[in-house]
Amino acid sequence: MQTVTLNNGVKMPAIGFGVFQIPVEDTERIVSEALETGYRMIDTAASYFNEEQVGNAIRRSGLKREDIFVTTKLWVQDYEYDDTLRAFDRSMKLLGLDYLDLYLLHKPYGNYYAAWRAAERLYKEGRIRAIGVTSFSNERLQDLFLHNEVKPAVNQLETHPFFQQQEANAFLQREGIQHEAWAPFAEGQNDIFHNPLLKAIAERHGKTVGQVVLRWLNQRNVVIIPKTVRKERMAENFNIFDFTLTDEEMRSIATLDTGKSPIYDDMDLQTTKFIGTLKIHN
Ligand code: NAP
Repeated sequence: MQTVTLNNGVKMPAIGFGVFQIPVEDTERIVSEALETGYRMIDTAASYFNEEQVGNAIRRSGLKREDIFVTTKLWVQDYEYDDTLRAFDRSMKLLGLDYLDLYLLHKPYGNYYAAWRAAERLYKEGRIRAIGVTSFSNERLQDLFLHNEVKPAVNQLETHPFFQQQEANAFLQREGIQHEAWAPFAEGQNDIFHNPLLKAIAERHGKTVGQVVLRWLNQRNVVIIPKTVRKERMAENFNIFDFTLTDEEMRSIATLDTGKSPIYDDMDLQTTKFIGTLKIHN
């Protein structure tokens, strides 16, 4: 299993399995299939409502706990110090785990300084092996680590051919923070699987468009967590380490960048108000 080493020395698989939008009733079976396929990292979140099913699949797999890297995320509603401690306990109870590999602050809204300090405490107590954030702009991320003790180990960002995050990638590399991609396939937007440029590259290597996209991210040192409900696609998405994109192919994929998200406009006030105030529990 290819790994990356985080800024605190923890090793993280270079590829994992995302479970956003997988129906709760199917999650346990699908995560079991992902583990059978060979995935050793699962990315869930309190707001996906499937932590319990992820935990069940992990226990049923018979794999050793230390061989699986588990990520979950704290929702904005719980971004106060004591609320964060409580939300973490809730997630751990649902997952049925006694330690977590990676805990991420899910969105850059609300009182994320308080949430971060509580996450730092859990990290120092050894209950979490690494802590990080998702969807933080360079400015917010820099401010967060300038005013706190523990530097985030990971920033999970929407990253795919149409939104390549080149500036963020350069900043994260400079700061020693691991770039992880959410929505590596742009959640299917812009007809990504039929993109002519990606299709031509895929045909040249005898691979699929999905495999080219994942390998392109992997060659940029970006950790990937593709989601699929289909077993054959799990294997397809996992099987990306037996070919290499040339420098010219990497440069040609760079031309697909539009510099903005086709999924989520983080400058739109309605969207950010909706997400920033969304409640996931009473
Ligand atoms: P994604 O991985 O970009 O795309 C998933 C879509 O691609 C699904 O419709 C899936 O369909 C399809 N697909 C998967 N493999 C395929 C293949 N080989 N060929 C053709 N179609 C394929 O989207 P995502 O689930 O949003 O992102 C991945 C993970 O990132 C999530 O599951 C979650 O863990 C994480 N995430 C984090 C955030 C955040 O705010 N931090 C936000 C979004 C996502 P089928 O399932 O039908 O195969």
